[in-house]
Amino acid sequence: MKKEVIMIKNGEIALKGLNRKSFEDVLAKNIKWRLKDLGKFQITRAQSTMYIEPMEDEIDFEEAIERLKKIFGIAAFTCALVVEKEMSIIGQEAIAYMKDILPNARTFKVAAKRSDKKFPLTSPQLQQELGAALFQAYPHLKVDVHHPEVTVTVEIRDFGAYIHAEQILGAGGMPVGSSGKALVMISGGIDSPVAAYMMAKRGLQLHAIHFVSPPYTSDRALQKVETLCEKVSEYTGRIQFYCVPFTDIQVAIRDHCPEEFFTIIMRRLMIEIAVRIAQKQELGALITGESLGQVASQTIGAIVATDDVCSIPIFRPLIGMDKNEIVEIARKIDTFETSILPYEDCCTVFTPKHPKTKPILQQVRDAQAAFDFEPLIQQAVEHTIQKTIRSIS
Ligand code: ATP
Ligand code: MG
Repeated sequence: MKKEVIMIKNGEIALKGLNRKSFEDVLAKNIKWRLKDLGKFQITRAQSTMYIEPMEDEIDFEEAIERLKKIFGIAAFTCALVVEKEMSIIGQEAIAYMKDILPNARTFKVAAKRSDKKFPLTSPQLQQELGAALFQAYPHLKVDVHHPEVTVTVEIRDFGAYIHAEQILGAGGMPVGSSGKALVMISGGIDSPVAAYMMAKRGLQLHAIHFVSPPYTSDRALQKVETLCEKVSEYTGRIQFYCVPFTDIQVAIRDHCPEEFFTIIMRRLMIEIAVRIAQKQELGALITGESLGQVASQTIGAIVATDDVCSIPIFRPLIGMDKNEIVEIARKIDTFETSILPYEDCCTVFTPKHPKTKPILQQVRDAQAAFDFEPLIQQAVEHTIQKTIRSIS
């Protein structure tokens, strides 16, 4: 009978009223997917709580907890021990289950809930009995009903008595997929993986696009980006990855457009290709790792010039963040060490000596019109969709 389960009380989701059920459906599906290879779990819901129960004996519970900490849509969760609904057993098991927590606490209280009204003790009686049992085992404790350091909760449900351990902080946010789908433009740098993480946290399911310029960029640079996607996928779930061959376009820019506009035209063409792929794949927005003022191509003028060719929203979650704030998140999600590996990015191929930092939109348009990029854009889009898509998780 005795077993450990996980209980999730939904934070942000609980606020969503009518949408709640569909959010919970998405969350349950994501949890199932993330725990799949650890063994069989059953997920059930009652009121605002989701119960995750291992259905096999040999399940790595610690690993399940680590994975849950990375699933968006979970504000906090609790482990609970399920035992028989028998007061003496509840007392004994609670004493043992709290052995790492109560010896280090000074004050505690017991909270009891009883949804099975057939249980012979009322909630106040249960509270008193369990309190007395715990107090006998840990006599240093004092009861504090207002501000206890530890609250031991016991819930009498149909299936058994649930004794709760302490709360574990979840990743917060919204379940991935509940806000739709978007295409993140991912480079090998520090910023874009963080941007991907942040938008997945708002419930977007991610596809990722990366531009390469062989032979100027190497296979190792591409592998680095794939590794970054893998790391981010611990939070975002599976990512559809697209790799765009960009050399011909960059060579054409170099050969036909004024050098000072090289970077901005390159970025416009990247966006044009990304938008077309997003539209074909039914992705509602683009995501970039831009942060205002960080480099010459991230000024208001440059943003105007890129938005000029973009017919869907571009989410720039890092726009108002400092580098050190971005780095802090990159460390937390474990992408930082990979991001700082020194491989080339296509953005640094043929960079102009004197880029325009305050481009005037009409000048940029004119500079780009010096060459008909349309056939090359179409070719890149087709090649990318037909030859390069794969799943990363
Ligand atoms: P990051 O740290 O993400 O590389 P960055 O500070 O190097 O960003 P830029 O090189 O100006 O800034 O790139 C701005 C954004 O453009 C990136 O955050 C990313 O979203 C996108 N981007 C840059 N290079 C590529 C690429 N090779 N493939 C896809 N997207 C890219
Ligand atoms: Mg970069």
